[in-house]
Amino acid sequence: MSTFRLEIVTAEKEVYADDVELLVAPGVEGELGILPHHAPLMTMLQPGELRIKKGGEEIIMCVSGGFLEVRPDKAIVLADTAERAEEIDIERAVAARCRAEEKIKGAKGTEAALIEAALRRSMVRIKVADRRRRRG
Ligand code: ATP
Repeated sequence: MSTFRLEIVTAEKEVYADDVELLVAPGVEGELGILPHHAPLMTMLQPGELRIKKGGEEIIMCVSGGFLEVRPDKAIVLADTAERAEEIDIERAVAARCRAEEKIKGAKGTEAALIEAALRRSMVRIKVADRRRRRG
């Protein structure tokens, strides 16, 4: 099957690099499916689920936002954070959600926006980890 090079990096580390058949990423305007020979593009990502297909295997990750660039030679995801679904610590995400829900009360302006972002990250992590559990 035809493949393309995919690299997923954060400021901290390279999270993933391989030749893959399909990438589905959470674009700000909706899910984006990238197949080999996709036209070049650059877009922002929103917090959500990212799926990779390779050799009959599906890898599921959670990203908390970032950018996707499709170049002629490879696709690059520059993620704010990225975890494989099976690496997500659900208890930590639930604790983060509770903290954010508590702090959002009465918060304003930039502080409220930061708490809102933390809330979204935690909710997406919980959703991605839950879905993976159900898929088994
Ligand atoms: P917390 O308050 O629990 O630290 P956070 O949303 O503030 O959550 P981030 O700043 O988004 O955390 O991420 C910091 C690092 O921790 C990143 O490397 C991210 O991949 C990892 N991370 C955050 N939450 C989880 C989680 N629930 N399970 C696994 N890794 C996580």
